[in-house]
Amino acid sequence: MNKFEYYNPVKVMFGEDAVEQIGVQAKEYGKKVMIVSYTDISFYGNLFDRIHLLLNEQGIDYIDFLEVTANPTLKQARKGIEICKKEEVDLIIGIGGGSAMDCAKVIAAGVNYNAGDIVNMIAFSHSDSSQIPPTNALPTIMIPTLPATGSEMNPTAVITDEITHKKSYVWAPECLYPKVAIIDPKLTVSLPIYQTACGAIDTIAHVLESYFNGGEGNLDLQDRMQEGVIRTVLDNISNVITNPSDTQTRGVMQWAAAIALNGWVLSGTYTWAPMHQMGHVLSARYNATHGATLATMILAWMRYFVSRDDNKRYIQFADRIYEKSLSDSADDLEKLLNEVGVQTHISEFGVSKSDIDLLVDDVVSISFGNNEMLASVPPISKEDVRKIYEIAL
Ligand SMILES: [Zn+2]
Repeated sequence: MNKFEYYNPVKVMFGEDAVEQIGVQAKEYGKKVMIVSYTDISFYGNLFDRIHLLLNEQGIDYIDFLEVTANPTLKQARKGIEICKKEEVDLIIGIGGGSAMDCAKVIAAGVNYNAGDIVNMIAFSHSDSSQIPPTNALPTIMIPTLPATGSEMNPTAVITDEITHKKSYVWAPECLYPKVAIIDPKLTVSLPIYQTACGAIDTIAHVLESYFNGGEGNLDLQDRMQEGVIRTVLDNISNVITNPSDTQTRGVMQWAAAIALNGWVLSGTYTWAPMHQMGHVLSARYNATHGATLATMILAWMRYFVSRDDNKRYIQFADRIYEKSLSDSADDLEKLLNEVGVQTHISEFGVSKSDIDLLVDDVVSISFGNNEMLASVPPISKEDVRKIYEIAL
């Protein structure tokens, strides 16, 4: 195990109808709330009316900021920040998937940010020392409706610079942990199959990044916890798709997403996320769904490592999860992904062979460190990145 510090101050309220707690919880942290969510909230039925009422009952004022899209942009966050300042908002509630919650975090951090434009808080590269993380943010409460990013329990926000098309992250444990995560399985029963499946793949990817890159020493405990999360999600994907209104299974998927990325199962391991770095480039260029980009990357990474000698972690994964060879395990995973309708090749996003140079250049410029490698164990070279994209094609 590596040295680690574990800190997670997020209060979790889990269970059916947990959302009824929103008014009481919000009262602890503010008097004027900004609700951050998507441009189209028709999907949520009367959820927003209920939340407005629950806030009103506690004497809390609110404004809705319904301007977030998938792969949220700095432009959207800037507009939210401006409104927060003008309206003297003192609490942000993010409702939705990672996009809504992450945009909510960047807005919360931007209100008190005094190091220039919010673009400065983003870590665009591992070697980028010009990044100035926020140190003071408005409190946030998260209501996740798409189990995937675990954003409700961590201090990270992923955001895209719409001008450069670079998608990267803000990480600020000092101020970006939400105060409360309200995890209500009922809020996910109407989630479409594709979003459900992509979210599940994202959860698996969060654990797999660490599992493949686990590092050195005795990781028995982490390995077994991580295998537990992966196994659970794989076992429950088909179930949740066949019985979408089963709140027990929905709850399992939600809690799996939260614990995959709340620091617990990743403690003591490396936290590099090379598959995510290569996936973000696909989202930024082709607006591909995050979980789907990861589906293509997980398969390509597994297949790429079949022929490498330093593939111990990959072989262990194949052995313990599939009890098969690495190559056969990748085929099994692809079969499952096909069954649940998630893309398995980047050509399905519109990538052609001639685009690969551009993708490789993006990864190099955004994610490569000073050593001219992508942080990973083993480190991944530019040529490796190209090979992996080619396998994914
Ligand atoms: Zn992810």
